[in-house]
Amino acid sequence: MSKRDYYEVLGIERGADQKEIKKAYRRLAQKYHPDRNPDDDTAAEKFREVSEAYEVLTDSEKRAAYDQFGHDGVDGQAGGGFGGAGAGGFSDIFGDVFGDIFGGGGARRNPNAPQRGSDLRYNLEVDLEDAVAGTSVDIRVPRHIECERCDGDGAEPGSSKETCPTCHGMGQVRMQQGFFAVQQTCPTCHGSGQHVKVPCHKCNGEGRERETRTLSVKIPAGVDTGDRIRLNAEGEAGMNGGPPGDLYVQVAIKPHHIFEREGRHLQCEVPINFVDATLGGELEVPTLDGRVKLKIPPETQTGKMFRLKGKGVKPVRGGPAGDLLCRVEVETPVKLSEEQKDLLRQFQDSLDGSNSHHSPKKSNFFDGVKKFFEDMKP
Ligand SMILES: [Zn+2]
Ligand SMILES: [Zn+2]
Repeated sequence: MSKRDYYEVLGIERGADQKEIKKAYRRLAQKYHPDRNPDDDTAAEKFREVSEAYEVLTDSEKRAAYDQFGHDGVDGQAGGGFGGAGAGGFSDIFGDVFGDIFGGGGARRNPNAPQRGSDLRYNLEVDLEDAVAGTSVDIRVPRHIECERCDGDGAEPGSSKETCPTCHGMGQVRMQQGFFAVQQTCPTCHGSGQHVKVPCHKCNGEGRERETRTLSVKIPAGVDTGDRIRLNAEGEAGMNGGPPGDLYVQVAIKPHHIFEREGRHLQCEVPINFVDATLGGELEVPTLDGRVKLKIPPETQTGKMFRLKGKGVKPVRGGPAGDLLCRVEVETPVKLSEEQKDLLRQFQDSLDGSNSHHSPKKSNFFDGVKKFFEDMKP
């Protein structure tokens, strides 16, 4: 079967310019694209034919050879379809043509375009005291930086780069799989589109090297778990001269042995003996800036909360400091001597025998229990 004339395939004049070729190709490639014509062998064949014609006619050398010698002039070069070496035209406009129609699936980026480096994340645990007061912490961050020796170029200084011979600088090659052409990263240049003749001795041609750098991070007063501190341009190095990414320090506050933090408020538990709880007294309560006295009124029950205004945390985003909430816990005495126990028994005898007066909660409770069992009687 003889091959159709390329100009005929695209439906253009022999003198058509690049713009006309491109236009004709777009129209036909859209029409016959396999994504639009699933399981249609005729369309797939047309698509292949159109792509091949386009590939040859957009390459000035191949077009000249074709014009002079016909298919013989270019067979063996583009004869294998539109995979492998050849004009990059197809991929060039693939994005334009199909990006919109097929949800960008066909779009590809120029491998030589500058790419911003990745952002990095560093998890940092901070003591509560440091988080409240603010501090400065040295962290060690492993990351890629631009190679100093080659300035990120990958080529040994003094040596030059050449366009990758496999992909002709496209960074991608097209492989024919049945009727479908699959675009793949060029195995020779790994997508850079360029071939380094003498790789840089320091980075082995990668253009980047790994480095662990110590950075001083300023922790502003009031930070809390979940806050992020951004360090501009301290992320991974960019590619092809792109800017570096950022480093995000993710803060988590370490558990504290006394205080529990709840946003801008702090909470702590303060044990109190039953005599102080009964008679009232003064307690020493810890705060983040030292001990303070807390007056306990007589007849304080366990679980009672006392609020110390402004003894919490000043939020990092401004606003007044929170409070410190002290929860008192009445402690039952332990390891009493016989003498002390006798005193307690005397004390017990001194009560007038009615719980309702001295222990209203207890008497209420037992009244309730009594009623509960009475109600259960048949
Ligand atoms: Zn390549
Ligand atoms: Zn290097």
